[in-house]
Amino acid sequence: MIKAVRGTRDLLPPDTALWNFVEAAVRDVFRAYNFQEIRTPIFEETALFARGVGEETDIVAKEMYTWEDRGRAASEKGQSLTLRPEATAGIVRAYIEHKLWDRGLNKLYLLGPMFRRERPQKGRYRQFYQIDAEIIGPSSAGSESPARDAEILEMLATLLDRLGITDWSLQLNSVGCADDRAKFSEALRQALEPVKDKMCADCQRRAVTNPLRVFDCKVPEDQPIIEKLPRISQFLDEGCRTHFEAVQAILTKVGVPFSVNDRLVRGLDYYTRTAFEFTHGALGAQNAILGGGRYDGLSEALGGPAAPGIGFAIGQDRLVMSLQEKASAESVRAKPDVYVAPMAGMNGDAARLARELRRLGLVVELGDDSFRLKKSFEAATKVGAKYILIVGENEVKADAFALKDLATGDQVTVPRAELATRIRS
Ligand code: AMP
Repeated sequence: MIKAVRGTRDLLPPDTALWNFVEAAVRDVFRAYNFQEIRTPIFEETALFARGVGEETDIVAKEMYTWEDRGRAASEKGQSLTLRPEATAGIVRAYIEHKLWDRGLNKLYLLGPMFRRERPQKGRYRQFYQIDAEIIGPSSAGSESPARDAEILEMLATLLDRLGITDWSLQLNSVGCADDRAKFSEALRQALEPVKDKMCADCQRRAVTNPLRVFDCKVPEDQPIIEKLPRISQFLDEGCRTHFEAVQAILTKVGVPFSVNDRLVRGLDYYTRTAFEFTHGALGAQNAILGGGRYDGLSEALGGPAAPGIGFAIGQDRLVMSLQEKASAESVRAKPDVYVAPMAGMNGDAARLARELRRLGLVVELGDDSFRLKKSFEAATKVGAKYILIVGENEVKADAFALKDLATGDQVTVPRAELATRIRS
């Protein structure tokens, strides 16, 4: 038997109803902040992620699905392509490619699958889904402003509240600008020099190539060493410090609770200034439901104009998981209003009646005239229909049909013209 590939999974009903419920709420909330949807390709040139995410990140170093595409001629070397591991690089590529600043498009969101070759476990998959939003634009559009950071964070709090997720906490940090990070990096390198030999192989490599990545380390034995390393907060320049304070002041004003965590250094290279993460109590080890931050230099790193930006990615798999703790998918599942059961030879008339009822907005499950009545009742109960409607020769002649409430067992004869109203009530 062929099964779904390890780390991928089928999303089945009734869970898909919960996924749709989340997506509808997302679109609704984002709309109120004037975000518009963008859809970028699932695969891009590998160079986009190497440059946009960073060679030294775990994602680019070991988690990407990369392949060499076939060239046009057999002799021609193919392009290196990669399944997108995250959304921001693709969105910024599109922003540059289509000069979106000319069209005043600076608030974009994207829903869709991402791919990373991670070790699968509960809440961690190789194909997973992100809900991503970005504010990006020229400085003249105010995209650098701390007001944008606060707006994004307030929108996220609104979305989680709207979904009924109450048990979240927001951790906030500033990772400074390039200069601050260079100084911080140097300080880290020096602090790591005498201790790095006691650390894991990854950290020994990071200590030399990109010491900031040491904070991504999850190895328990390394944590006491990491705990004693310098902190980015000691290296923020005046501009970054003021920016960070302004973000916090607005959040306090609008009533979004947060805590500052100066250990929070996000996994991607392009972050500047604000970095944040929302966690959820009930999720266990993989408790981050979303993360994001500011990336003021990314557009230029990808060959575009200066375009400061800030964005986030919600892990939709985990968001749905945290919802499942409360709402069962069963409760948002759409069940048929009525099961139409044709008697022998009545498939045509039953189809005609089902067509009428569906046009009137009812959800109709249609049976088959080879079924005995008993089998039709069983089928109607199995799909969770509220009523069963019997279509026999006599009923068609009389233009009135037997309608039975499957929960109470009450049966009435209803004229064709009154069926929809009766079923709906
Ligand atoms: P990142 O793009 O790494 O900042 O991740 C943003 C969010 O995506 C995380 O907070 C997770 O909720 C989710 N996420 C990241 N990787 C995975 C994965 N392998 N499986 C499921 N969700 C993930």
